[in-house]
Amino acid sequence: MKLLVTGGAGYVGSVVASQLVEAGHETVVLDDLSKGHKEAVPEGARLVEGSLLDEAFVRETLARGFDGVLHFAALSLVAESVEEPERYYRNNVGGALNLLGAMGEAGVGRLVFSSTAAVYGEPGEVPIPETAPTGPTNPYGSSKLAVDRLIGHVAEARGLAATSLRYFNVAGASGRFGEDHHPETHLIPIVLQAAAGTRESVKIFGTDYPTRDGTAVRDYVHIEDLGRAHQLALEASEPGEHRVYNLGNGSGFSVLQVVEAARSVTGEDIRTEEAPRRAGDPPELVASSDAIRADLGWRPEKPGLEAMISDAWAWMQEHPDGYE
Ligand code: UDP
Repeated sequence: MKLLVTGGAGYVGSVVASQLVEAGHETVVLDDLSKGHKEAVPEGARLVEGSLLDEAFVRETLARGFDGVLHFAALSLVAESVEEPERYYRNNVGGALNLLGAMGEAGVGRLVFSSTAAVYGEPGEVPIPETAPTGPTNPYGSSKLAVDRLIGHVAEARGLAATSLRYFNVAGASGRFGEDHHPETHLIPIVLQAAAGTRESVKIFGTDYPTRDGTAVRDYVHIEDLGRAHQLALEASEPGEHRVYNLGNGSGFSVLQVVEAARSVTGEDIRTEEAPRRAGDPPELVASSDAIRADLGWRPEKPGLEAMISDAWAWMQEHPDGYE
């Protein structure tokens, strides 16, 4: 297939783009490089540089003809979204509107969308099934939920074959592709920076959550496992159908457990300090991925936290300055 990967110079997008190239798909990356890295665009994929907010550019790009789109380009930081809600809606919802409009005009019939567990907010039941009520606790999650709903309407109205994949916490690295955010806000790379000595300590955001050790619990999924789900979703979706799948391992780890696992993987002493809760963070997000396992036969091959941390650690040691 000829596929467009928006955000294909970012962490998740670049891994998925490289998997698509490897599977023999003609792959084009659309990225404005505001967060992504030119160096992260895989060999064999072509980069088209520009923003999804530029409607004419998006139309022109889609008019080149594609069999499907994998849409990753978005702003994705919970705390930042609490500070700048309009920017999050403009980028995430506005970008998706331009993309869907251009796909409609160009007759592109397949879409896989990078959604998030943040749409569930503070879930009533854990692990969270896709049928759980949505109730995002921050503008990031709300903007992603708005796009999920929009896609559902477009599938119904126009026969789009669409899948939303609701990611839990993505971690690890894949070959030469890894996580390089500026500034870095994600737990595992931050913990590893502390292990490497490029950061003095790790702040534990919240030690009074109603969880086993008082720190927030998340479900970590290896980037390679997450990536493979996109190809399965792309192939399985049927016109007029919007499927929604959670993507996680089904087991939760607290912030302190992540730090402990990183100490054991790296052999380094990692200093921590208690800090207040981060705005918009729910206490516990753990996925039920039963639906994608049953429907698409997806199985995580690297479900262990240690494997994710050690792959991220290896990448960090090979790329001490990230992609720069
Ligand atoms: N976290 C933390 N210290 C940090 C970064 C993150 O305690 O320096 C916590 C954060 O509050 C959340 C969990 O680790 O409970 C995972 O955060 P991350 O930003 O990696 O992913 P998110 O769950 O926000 O998508």
